[in-house]
Amino acid sequence: IKQILLAARPKGLPVAEDFKTETATLPELQPGEVLVKPLYLSVDPYMRGRMNDTRSYIPPFQVDAPIESSGVAEVTASKADQFKPGDKVMSTAPRPFLPWATAAIFPAAHLRKVDDSIPLTHYLGLLGVPGLTAYFGMVDIGKPKPGETVVVSGAAGAVGIVVGQIAKIMGCRAVGIAGGSEKIKLLTDTFDFDAAIDYKGNPDMDSAVAAACPNGVDVYFDNVGGDISDAVARHLNFFARVPLCGQISLYNSTEVPVGPRIQPILVTRSILMQGFIITNYASRFGEGVKQLAEWIKAGKIKYTETIEEGFDRLPDALLGLFSGKNSGKMIVKV
Ligand code: NDP
Repeated sequence: IKQILLAARPKGLPVAEDFKTETATLPELQPGEVLVKPLYLSVDPYMRGRMNDTRSYIPPFQVDAPIESSGVAEVTASKADQFKPGDKVMSTAPRPFLPWATAAIFPAAHLRKVDDSIPLTHYLGLLGVPGLTAYFGMVDIGKPKPGETVVVSGAAGAVGIVVGQIAKIMGCRAVGIAGGSEKIKLLTDTFDFDAAIDYKGNPDMDSAVAAACPNGVDVYFDNVGGDISDAVARHLNFFARVPLCGQISLYNSTEVPVGPRIQPILVTRSILMQGFIITNYASRFGEGVKQLAEWIKAGKIKYTETIEEGFDRLPDALLGLFSGKNSGKMIVKV
């Protein structure tokens, strides 16, 4: 088999030399075990954090060990009664990941079958972590009310594109912030955002937010942090809610990022800002999947994906998240 390992811990934006490809041989399949071949592997922004040796909600990748991410695989051989070749599977908690390898062995108890009558990539996007993150961040923390203004950064990405559509479903004005004119057009023309702001090369985000949000901002779903979020903070309304989902603009920082102190704004306008990790909602995933599936069926949520072809593309696809190469979920078709 071929596998991709972490070669070194990156400093700042990872480079090709931080990854290495090796060949390896798998041991013989034992009773109760299943051999799988990854079909689709996910690349996600949080994986950058796992490349550092720091304490977080998930352990770091080990140097010289395969990188791992969520994925959907096909069973190619099985010595467990529950699985047969051809079954489509995902691995389960506590290690819901596939190694970056062209094949892998799992104990049957660590796999679950997935329904392949829906597109398999949905398990990594719309009905997977990004969709659920958008859903719980909005309904549990954002709590948008009809007529309110919802701003989302990283709006054309996997999470953001769902956040904006949930805002519309809930009767709100949806404003997206993303990089580049193509993404802006995608948001307003295909995904029905009421307004979209191109942050790239925009020296006056403050005025851009003011223009797009004439009634201020009631919910700010923050995927990116940094200067973009500083600009939005100035326009938050009384009793605004700020689900802190991600801070991708800071993931490659080599120094502690500093910015304006926003606590005075939070105090004087009674604003709720709350960080969250999607696994906090694990016991409610069923509810989220059911609601998202209903909205998809009713045509209320649409989706787009960026699919890179080939196992060797995995490192580039991961790095592409930090330059915005993707619209919607970034996935590698192995
Ligand atoms: P995306 O599909 O949104 O991909 C990342 C996007 O981020 C890029 O396409 C790019 O879009 C944007 N981006 C990259 N660098 C910057 C930058 N310096 N400044 C502004 N935008 C940037 O990824 P996801 O939807 O999977 O994740 C979005 C966010 O949500 C991430 O921060 C992620 O860590 C977080 N997340 C959090 C979860 C949780 O449990 N809390 C779960 C899942 C995701 P553009 O072209 O517009 O710049």
